[in-house]
Amino acid sequence: MSFPVQDIRRDFPLLSQKVHGKDLIYFDNAATTQKPEVVINRMNDLLRVGNSSIHRSVNYLSDQMTRDYEAARDVVKNFIGAENSKEIIFTSGATGSINTIAFSFGEAFVSSGDEIIVSELEHHSNIVPWQMLCERKGASLKVLPMDENGELRLDLLPSLINDKTRLLSVSQVSNSMGTINPVEEIIELAHSYDVPVLVDGAQSVQHSAVDVKKMDCDFFVFSGHKIYGPTGIGVLYGKEKWLDRLPPYQGGGDMIDRVSFEKTTFNELPFKFEAGTTNYIGVIGLAESIKYINNIGFEALKEYEFFLRDYTLEALKSVPGITFYGTAKEKVAIFSFLMNQIHPYDAGLVLDKLGIAIRTGTHCTMPVMEHFGIEGTIRASLCFYNTKEEIDRFVEGLLLVQEMFT
Ligand code: PLP
Repeated sequence: MSFPVQDIRRDFPLLSQKVHGKDLIYFDNAATTQKPEVVINRMNDLLRVGNSSIHRSVNYLSDQMTRDYEAARDVVKNFIGAENSKEIIFTSGATGSINTIAFSFGEAFVSSGDEIIVSELEHHSNIVPWQMLCERKGASLKVLPMDENGELRLDLLPSLINDKTRLLSVSQVSNSMGTINPVEEIIELAHSYDVPVLVDGAQSVQHSAVDVKKMDCDFFVFSGHKIYGPTGIGVLYGKEKWLDRLPPYQGGGDMIDRVSFEKTTFNELPFKFEAGTTNYIGVIGLAESIKYINNIGFEALKEYEFFLRDYTLEALKSVPGITFYGTAKEKVAIFSFLMNQIHPYDAGLVLDKLGIAIRTGTHCTMPVMEHFGIEGTIRASLCFYNTKEEIDRFVEGLLLVQEMFT
């Protein structure tokens, strides 16, 4: 494997620190990813010498910031293969994007008796906004189940879709189990019933090239902080034909065309959905993180991450008493598991003392935990700056945890 992981690690200042006197091992990448120096420097520079509100003033700084902001929109458009940059809306994150559609789509197209479909393995952010919509409109939420491996039961999908179904929302990759869902197949099936599909890409865009046109999703969302960019920034992609027909989510700022006390008219896309002063420095930071990933290239990145995935799986199998949750054939390097009767929280605390950052708990997927009849798991989520040596140290840490608690 010729992936230049040591060079890449040098790009991420946080990774070289010690925690509790030990070299940090950061295996909590599904929660949030670390930032390369280029992102940090770009945002620092903007804060130092570039800051000015966009789309508002004629001054030099504002003009420059506006150009950079709109150039960032083009970077995102190209990154996910959208048709045009009007289809790219900047939000606060994947959650913000889903809430935008749940509200706006709900206002325009959902009424009493209608149905929305989500899957059993969704993150709460792709459940709760739809539940809130259903409550508001008197609609109901249908759930596509998963099987014991954490794979979606596609065979059951046709029986869930009917003429009351208004939208289907599904993640491309599960954050708690790593399952890669066959979203193209789901979209094709949903479209054959004229049902639009929102794809939650919060755990997919950082691992594999996304092409929203090829996928043919109607909406696609992701967060900046999970793709080596800043927090508080996210993307909502929507086909222009849908976004044009949806009312704005929030009012004020750039989303207006003309305001009077009698009536307000709204701006064109994409500004109609960007109310208030946007997180323009975050947007430019996100574009920088995308350029960073593009420079590595998804082919090499994916091959290395799959190597780490396979290596981790084999290594973890050597830990006695381990039970995996989420054993799908197609998955990213996210591992959820329990060891004997050891509480995940206890394991997490010991691992932390060894400098190993993992996540414990439900991972914002309580229905997944309910499916398996457990209260939570230990989750290790890896990405391209992790190494084989870190996996070895992780396994040693787990063996120590076992020794302490059994
Ligand atoms: N969807 C999935 C699959 C996620 O993993 C997450 C976060 O973990 C979200 C949505 C929500 O992302 P954010 O909190 O960045 O809005």
